[in-house]
Amino acid sequence: MTTLIHPDVLPRVNSSAADALNDAERDRIRAKSAMFAPPEARLADGRRDLVGLSREELAEVMADIGEKPFRAKQVWHWIYHQGATDFSRMSTIAKPLQAKLAEHFVVGRPTTATEQTSVDATRKFLFRFRDGQEAETVYIPDRREDRGAVCVSSQVGCTLSCTFCHTGTQKLVRNLGAAEIVGQFMAARDSYNEWPSPRGDTPRLLSTIVLMGMGEPLYNYDNIAKAMKIIMDGEGIALSRRRITLSTSGVVPLMDQCGDELGVNLAISLHAVTNELRDQIVPLNRKYPIEELIAACRRYPAASNSRRITFEYIMLRDVNDSDADARELVRLIKDLPAKVNLIPFNPWPGSEFQPSTRNRLNSFAKIVMDAGFSSPIRTPRGQDILAACGQLKTESERLRRNH
Ligand code: SF4
Repeated sequence: MTTLIHPDVLPRVNSSAADALNDAERDRIRAKSAMFAPPEARLADGRRDLVGLSREELAEVMADIGEKPFRAKQVWHWIYHQGATDFSRMSTIAKPLQAKLAEHFVVGRPTTATEQTSVDATRKFLFRFRDGQEAETVYIPDRREDRGAVCVSSQVGCTLSCTFCHTGTQKLVRNLGAAEIVGQFMAARDSYNEWPSPRGDTPRLLSTIVLMGMGEPLYNYDNIAKAMKIIMDGEGIALSRRRITLSTSGVVPLMDQCGDELGVNLAISLHAVTNELRDQIVPLNRKYPIEELIAACRRYPAASNSRRITFEYIMLRDVNDSDADARELVRLIKDLPAKVNLIPFNPWPGSEFQPSTRNRLNSFAKIVMDAGFSSPIRTPRGQDILAACGQLKTESERLRRNH
């Protein structure tokens, strides 16, 4: 028998009590995350990659070579506003200093192992990092407008083993560093020739970021936070927090911190409305059950009627797609500023699930919509280019093994 969770009995934990509860758990997550740290930001020849350094760190490395702080400001502008990767392009810097910078530093990018563009214009990249590890990044254009979202990975592999997810079949290799996270967005921009950055919040083709690629971003929080602060900096890429969405399976202890520190939009990979089912398909639920997750959503400071929390719900035939599931979903989120994204399951080789029928999708969507929540059914994108997250990386590894 399944136990339904009613919002009326959900705990209402205030922020400070929750902080106290979460401190120890946050430390534990951080300690574990450090075991999967990215490699040093230094090349084999001793030069240091400037991408991924905070402004303060950039000023420090400039000071180390005897340069004043204003040089850091200039270099920052060239790296993140102009998109320069070559010091000789930095025309506001005198030639001798350009040479000195090139002697000590590089402006790195991941290399593009593969790049594929779908018939629907979705573009999928497999980026390779300096140690040979790879992660996927996808650009998903908005059909109605001249803009789109870049879906960025946070880890190589994932520890969480959600049963419907192809990436979940790949064990966690390591966290991505801030340089590698920012680098995915910058390399995608290179591909669309979108430099220099517009000032402020003027939309471009690559207009939003969703942290929804490979990995659980809140299990790599420090690198994600550093990368997002670089991307939001008003003198560089300058993407506002409203244009960034972090998607989590529900690492509750870090949700408060993410809201306070970054204030980005939040998406929750919910996918089930009972703990019994969610324990199976999103195993992280065994640690942070639905009632704690929803309570953390209530506390999320950046949520408001204009910035709703998105609940991602993958529709699995005869598993989580009944009308009763839809009604329970509505009860769970009834007092939250929320919208629901219904995702038709995209089967991958070896997966145990089937997609819901179109009738089921529509019926589920109607119940959610009638309750006053936006509930778009996401159109599958890029199906001709191995669109299920994690597939491109698996294919690349298979090809390498066979050659
Ligand atoms: S859905 Fe996200 S958290 Fe779950 S296994 Fe896949 S990548 Fe990891």
